[in-house]
Amino acid sequence: MLTWSRSPFLRFAVAVLVVLLTEGLRFVLAPWLGDRSPFLPFTLAILGVVLWCGFGPAILASILSLGFALAFPDPRHFSVGDGLEGILFLFTATGIILFGEAINRSRRKLIESERLTRLRTHDAEELAEELNLLIDGAPGYAIYMLDLAGNVTIWNQGAERLLGWREAEVMGRQVSLFYPPDAVAAGKPERDLVRAAEESRFIEEDWRLRKDGSEFLASIAITALFTEEGRLRGFAKIVSDITEQRAAEDMIKWRESHLRSILSTVPDGMVVIDETGIVLSFSTAAEALFGYTEKEVIGRNVSMLMGSPDRERHDGYIRRYLETGEKRIIGKGRVVFALRKNGTSFPMELSIGEATDGMQRIFTGFIRDLTERRQTEEKLQTLQSELIHVSRVSAMGTMASTLAHELNQPITAIANYVETIRDQLADPHPDPAAFPMMREALDETAKEALRAGHIVRRLRDFVARGEVEKTIEPLPDLINEASALGLMGAREKGIEPVFDLAPSTLRVLVDKVQIQQVLINLIRNACEAIGNGPERRLTIATRPDQPGFVRVTVSDTGAGIAPGIVGQLFSAFVSTKAKGMGLGLSICRTIVEANGGRIWMEPRAGGGTHFHFTLVRAEIEDDHGG
Ligand code: ADP
Repeated sequence: MLTWSRSPFLRFAVAVLVVLLTEGLRFVLAPWLGDRSPFLPFTLAILGVVLWCGFGPAILASILSLGFALAFPDPRHFSVGDGLEGILFLFTATGIILFGEAINRSRRKLIESERLTRLRTHDAEELAEELNLLIDGAPGYAIYMLDLAGNVTIWNQGAERLLGWREAEVMGRQVSLFYPPDAVAAGKPERDLVRAAEESRFIEEDWRLRKDGSEFLASIAITALFTEEGRLRGFAKIVSDITEQRAAEDMIKWRESHLRSILSTVPDGMVVIDETGIVLSFSTAAEALFGYTEKEVIGRNVSMLMGSPDRERHDGYIRRYLETGEKRIIGKGRVVFALRKNGTSFPMELSIGEATDGMQRIFTGFIRDLTERRQTEEKLQTLQSELIHVSRVSAMGTMASTLAHELNQPITAIANYVETIRDQLADPHPDPAAFPMMREALDETAKEALRAGHIVRRLRDFVARGEVEKTIEPLPDLINEASALGLMGAREKGIEPVFDLAPSTLRVLVDKVQIQQVLINLIRNACEAIGNGPERRLTIATRPDQPGFVRVTVSDTGAGIAPGIVGQLFSAFVSTKAKGMGLGLSICRTIVEANGGRIWMEPRAGGGTHFHFTLVRAEIEDDHGG
């Protein structure tokens, strides 16, 4: 406040009072002062009034003072000198008033500027307080400041939370405290400050150290602070822990790439859409199915991939599902017609899955092209029937050749006997002594003819019904006969057959001809496998197997089974031979299984292969024999 009151009336009243008091004082001091300087006390009064009450009251006080000075105490002695003195007083009063006003103005200015300063200080304090609250309240952020030498000068609560140091512990300490030892050794703390000073601000991601020695991945911003004159005065650092954020980002990236890899390899087409039907992703297989690239489809309505009437209705399907929740296709799958880019359509099996994260709902469609499946099924069927046909033909062929061999003997014998008898009968007087021999020959002829008939009947039965006729057969005999056929020409090639037949495995319940066919096949394969190898040994062994079974093993010292065919060795048409049909082992399996056994292969230690098959024993009591 410049004047003591805002009220003009009071200020004027005070002015009058001051003049009156001055006049009173002058009156009291009159005995000492006399008539000397009647204006002097008034000049002081005017000065007081102008300073305390302002311009207007001071004018009033001047006029009143002039009046009093001239009129009192003795107006009768008024002289010209008094008049001049009065004029001089007026000038002086004017001067005092102007001077007082000037002082008042500068005082006013001073007060105003003081007021502004106080206001600003208050604002600044408020701002600083709010800023501090803000900084301390920033969760996950360490905010601190460094001086030029890199010593901590300001430390916020966030820094305490993040780095573990309390303000009192860390003030004035070097910033290198927060760097891992290797970074300190490499001079990184100093380099960072130099760089911040050069670039005025830089941001990086790097490892930082907590008080407890643990490290964390941090996002760090260093800002250089300058004075108004542009002199560097320190640095502000904002640090946040991004270890978890980075881990989450890495996880998302990994999931994305994982999903990508699935999308690119999943054999069914896969289309993901949002709840408005817009395509979000389109797998590699879908690209192949529809002829569109991912780019051409993403962001467009999935109905472009459908034929009528689904094409026009699809948006409605989704709307109805979202409104009613009634699942017509989701989770069930349906056959629909899809439209390729080139306008052709194909039947597909569509299965739809739904996923929602609470905010967004997506639908994933798996598409299987049924054209291909149908074609594949047809192909497979054709192949199967061909296979059956060929294996039948082959089985018959093999059987026929085996039988031809078997028939050859009785027929040759019959021919021999018949020729002998004919020669005997050519004599017009045959020797009666030869009659018994002729009868015997005829008996043999009949026997051989019956045997041939038997063989032929069994061939017919086998081809007609595919059934086996099991009889109890001595196993060693069966093996010997089959080996004789199978090993034909083997000895000439230097192959030495070894028979290792366990005495207990004497009799088996089998279709003899069929099992002989198996043995012949295995023996021939073994001979071919041995070829011209350094070791040429072929072993045929029998051993008791599981109760009720005998195991027959044909082993060779050949090169072993080609690795590529091991898995499907017993399947039809698997062969490594230029002229091989790849049917032998397949037929062997059919026969062994039809006879109640099983067949398998085992690599032989030291090279070569064991082929094992089991046969049903006819003599249970021999089970425990050697
Ligand atoms: P094919 O003799 O007409 O090839 P197989 O069914 O008899 O038909 O045999 C299939 C394939 O199995 C043969 O091509 C051969 O590669 C392999 N194989 C069969 N037996 C042996 C064996 N003892 N040693 C090595 N490979 C064999």
